[in-house]
Amino acid sequence: MITSAIDGYWSRLGFDDDQIFEMKGSVNYFQCSMPCRSRLWKVDTLNIDDVEKCLQLRSGPPLCGLCKRNFSRPNVFMESDCYFVSSRIVHQEQRLNELCITNYDKKVLFAIVGVSIDNNRIFEVIKKKLLLLTNVSILLIDPKAVEIKDKLQIFLNNPQELNWILISMPVLEGLVTLNRHVRLLQYGEQQADTGN
Ligand SMILES: [Zn+2]
Repeated sequence: MITSAIDGYWSRLGFDDDQIFEMKGSVNYFQCSMPCRSRLWKVDTLNIDDVEKCLQLRSGPPLCGLCKRNFSRPNVFMESDCYFVSSRIVHQEQRLNELCITNYDKKVLFAIVGVSIDNNRIFEVIKKKLLLLTNVSILLIDPKAVEIKDKLQIFLNNPQELNWILISMPVLEGLVTLNRHVRLLQYGEQQADTGN
């Protein structure tokens, strides 16, 4: 799972941290603002009372638990962010690369769901992973599926061997439609309609 979302949603949905590459970091992890060390710590729940106190300046932002001197901040990459501790996402990406390399000749379905066409960074990341695979089909679900395919073709130098499956719909509608078609293939009309 590659995501540029920072809200930690995939973790909260139950995905194992080992299965995710959060390319811009996650609000579920904090770091020292300077940083004093490259260590991160996990924050399971944000205490709304604490956030309100900070906003009302009754108390300052929370301090780094390691040096007790600098502020702590979410381990999220911001534009030109030289203080971002990248160790976690580097490790996540290495793990994903190993997965691609191990399965380089297997039949792989690479699903791209709801990607922003202006996010060149994620296109670069997708390109690097696709170049590690040799037998890949790309499932694209997005209202701009055709434009995203065209842009990705340019990033990949127009490879001929890719199989494309385009679903030009909003993501949720596309997933529901896809689910219905898969059920039709598996169980026939009645079960697909009832969802059983
Ligand atoms: Zn610190």
